[in-house]
Amino acid sequence: MKFTDLGLNESLLKAVKEVGYTTPTPIQAQAIPVVIEGRDVLAAAQTGTGKTAGFTLPLLERLSETKPQMKKKQIRVLVLTPTRELAAQVADSIATYGKYMSYKSMVIFGGVGINPQFAAIKKGVDIVIATPGRLLDIASQDGIDFSAVETLVLDEADRMLDMGFINDIKKLMAMMPKKKQTLLFSATFSREIKALASGLLKDPVLVEVARENSTAGKISQVVYPVDKSRKRELLAQLIKTNDWKQVLVFTRTKHGANKVCKQLEEYSGIKAAAIHGNKSQGARTKALADFKEGRVRVLVATDIAARGIDIDQLPHVVNFELPNVPEDYVHRIGRTGRAGMKGEAVSLVCIDEHDLLKAIERFTKSNIKKVDLEAFRPDPSIEAEPIQNGRGGGKRGGGQRNGNRPSTSSGTNRRNKKPAKNKPANNKPENDKTPTEKKRKPRNPHAEKIGSNLQAKLDKLDKKSNNNRRK
Ligand code: AMP
Repeated sequence: MKFTDLGLNESLLKAVKEVGYTTPTPIQAQAIPVVIEGRDVLAAAQTGTGKTAGFTLPLLERLSETKPQMKKKQIRVLVLTPTRELAAQVADSIATYGKYMSYKSMVIFGGVGINPQFAAIKKGVDIVIATPGRLLDIASQDGIDFSAVETLVLDEADRMLDMGFINDIKKLMAMMPKKKQTLLFSATFSREIKALASGLLKDPVLVEVARENSTAGKISQVVYPVDKSRKRELLAQLIKTNDWKQVLVFTRTKHGANKVCKQLEEYSGIKAAAIHGNKSQGARTKALADFKEGRVRVLVATDIAARGIDIDQLPHVVNFELPNVPEDYVHRIGRTGRAGMKGEAVSLVCIDEHDLLKAIERFTKSNIKKVDLEAFRPDPSIEAEPIQNGRGGGKRGGGQRNGNRPSTSSGTNRRNKKPAKNKPANNKPENDKTPTEKKRKPRNPHAEKIGSNLQAKLDKLDKKSNNNRRK
């Protein structure tokens, strides 16, 4: 299959050629023709599969096919994403692929001034890429008109639901015209996703691809057992002795990300930047740009902030702390080894995290190689303590994932029976929501019934996505 076989116009083919893509990825080969045809699509895919081009290319093609008269504040395409980073990335893709076409697109997300966004919409845009919270704020102040929306895309729908955006999404949907094309992308298919899909999609084409990010592929994984207090030292040593030029480091908390970043710079002279929900949008964009362009060697990120980050040829991912949810491990290490490149995922694991590691190994059906570094061998007299923060421990909106969520972060608590109280405020689990967004509660997952035809399709996807995960 070639890009020229997919029904894309010359301008798009030229742009694709310039980016250097020679062959469509499986999701592109499946999705592009049916999206151009105008069908609804339900896609089981996550980042790393080429899904962004899978929907942006055919959307641009469709836009070029008609030229309706637009009224003030009307838009033609809406893409909803869970995070600002993903929104910015989708917008980048649209700019890249659409460089030889004339249309206007803009991103809308919170954390930046709202007035310029009102003004830009008023001037006229064709494509809006937005996070749900801010878009709803604008829509409820009459700042945007959805009555001419031709295509709606829900990208990483499971993440949006996980982040408690379901009510915002429902309110936005109520403002859209009934007759439109809808594309829903999700890595997992919880009951909530099924309910959402059943309400939105009309006779969708199912598109499914194997997870390129599955841990078995081109990503080599290694665990270094080490005491918690010596992780920073070991990280600096690994970076220096292996001469790693670009490393994405994950911590569980925003506070942890700041601390690792500061210590790497202060004690080891390694240039680092942190990226998390407490940073302003400007700081996040700058950190990412500095990292991509090599001005900063280490980017320290929390799970939510790192979602959607797309860095071509990112060679090293380090889990400074293991995530509480095994599925997040797969998402994290999927940042490397993308689009056919080789990648290395390193985890620094202290005694408190042994149960988390076991849960990850169970979930990924793999036995991750352990490397015993004599100089960093853990002190056997140190006992495990409970992990006091992280996503798995907090009250999170959203559904149970399909995977096995460990009940607690560490069960091997011999010293402290109870988790410590009064944890510091800045040690809260990462959460990307604004204060208003935090108040919005996720909805009851059992609230909706699902049409039987779609239910069968969803069950099929669900089964496939679980099977893929087990592979
Ligand atoms: P995505 O799944 O959309 O986040 O894309 C993952 C990565 O694959 C991005 O870095 C894209 O630039 C890259 N990519 C997308 N389509 C292709 C293609 N057809 N050939 C090679 N790389 C691609």
